[in-house]
Amino acid sequence: MRMLRLWSALLLLTIMAWAEAPQFPPTPVAAQASAHFDAKVATDAWLARMTGPEKARSDAYFEGGYWLILWDFLYAVGVMLVLLETKLSARLRNWAERVVKAAFLRSWLYWILFSAVAYALTFPLTMYEGFFREHAYGLSNLGFGEWFKEETLAVVVSALLGGVALSVLVRLVQRLPNTWHIWGALFSTVFLSIGIVIGPVFIAPLFNTYKPLENQRIKTDILSLARANGIPATNVYEVDASKQSNRVSANVSGFLGTERITLNDNLLARCSPACVLAVMGHEMGHYVLHHIYNMVIFFTIVVVALFWILRSGLEWALKRWGERWQVRGVGDVAVLPVVALILATLGFFFTPVMNSFIRTQEFEADMYGLNAARQPDGEAEADVLLGEYRKMDPGPLEEIIFFDHPSGRTRIYAAMRWKAENLCLFDATLACTNRPVTVNDQY
Ligand SMILES: [Zn+2]
Repeated sequence: MRMLRLWSALLLLTIMAWAEAPQFPPTPVAAQASAHFDAKVATDAWLARMTGPEKARSDAYFEGGYWLILWDFLYAVGVMLVLLETKLSARLRNWAERVVKAAFLRSWLYWILFSAVAYALTFPLTMYEGFFREHAYGLSNLGFGEWFKEETLAVVVSALLGGVALSVLVRLVQRLPNTWHIWGALFSTVFLSIGIVIGPVFIAPLFNTYKPLENQRIKTDILSLARANGIPATNVYEVDASKQSNRVSANVSGFLGTERITLNDNLLARCSPACVLAVMGHEMGHYVLHHIYNMVIFFTIVVVALFWILRSGLEWALKRWGERWQVRGVGDVAVLPVVALILATLGFFFTPVMNSFIRTQEFEADMYGLNAARQPDGEAEADVLLGEYRKMDPGPLEEIIFFDHPSGRTRIYAAMRWKAENLCLFDATLACTNRPVTVNDQY
């Protein structure tokens, strides 16, 4: 599951915005363009749109997520230690060896068994996190049966694709015992990059239905915005995300010609046209600023470092406990729980770095979107709606460690700061300090 989540993070550079009211309430008075417009006051006015109980609920949900990072980590460590200490991992390997002759298929069969056991052992936590907790906060539209079906489908996809990756990696370790960490990193990077390309095209449609955007009015506006920003203007899709939740989101995914912009149906139903365009401007920012390529480069560096640490980590661990766990060596597929242990530990401590890398790109996309779509109020509207599941007003350190998108306050303030310099766009009687100048203007 962890691997699959990592993939989803890679596959989708996602902005998620939560819409609140279907009737698009007007911009708060203090945030409307006026001669005494003040970005700070306007930001507070937008933030005040959330009621006390709404804010408390969102804070509780999001802060609970901080603890889940820790519990997920500890639980994963526990499960992997059970697999090793009971020698279950070695027994699964032995069984796979008895049943299948071909080495490649043995690794694959082991991976399927490992996935099934890990899924079963982590199921209570997965169920709490993915189903009961989401329902407790009113954030899921899935019945238990549907939810379980999706979870199982995700495990099956991971069992098939992960099996290919694991089998190749095991082969690499066996064949190139001294340099496998280099080749392994290279293979993993290529494999993940292929995943980024095929994920949105082949995997995402297993869970949702994608179709070309139907609403022609908003499509015309989006295509105009896309043309103005030099984006191939044909790939705008709509996805039925309301199946899973009321989350409003959009994303830009793929690369090397598979790029596409997708809006979900919640966004179209629950967000004003200004809000939709603000979100689209943000997504186009990801596209124009090559965020997917940046992500691939970032992951390449991370994967190379990871394999280097993995090599020494595995050698160290197997020297001490290899015999006890009946793991024959680094090239033995039964070593997988040790790999998972090391990856979980690195991933846990890497969380703030990962979050900060993504958050920085998200803020860049916000800045790009403001300039492209010129919808600061639409941006603020989306940000307030995001507040249904993301804490709006955290401390600075809290934002750095736990936020993979800027907080509501940070984003709304950036939008209002932009608006303060461009007031004439919203009220023709007001001056724009960021005024459109011509060559005939004098300084
Ligand atoms: Zn984004």
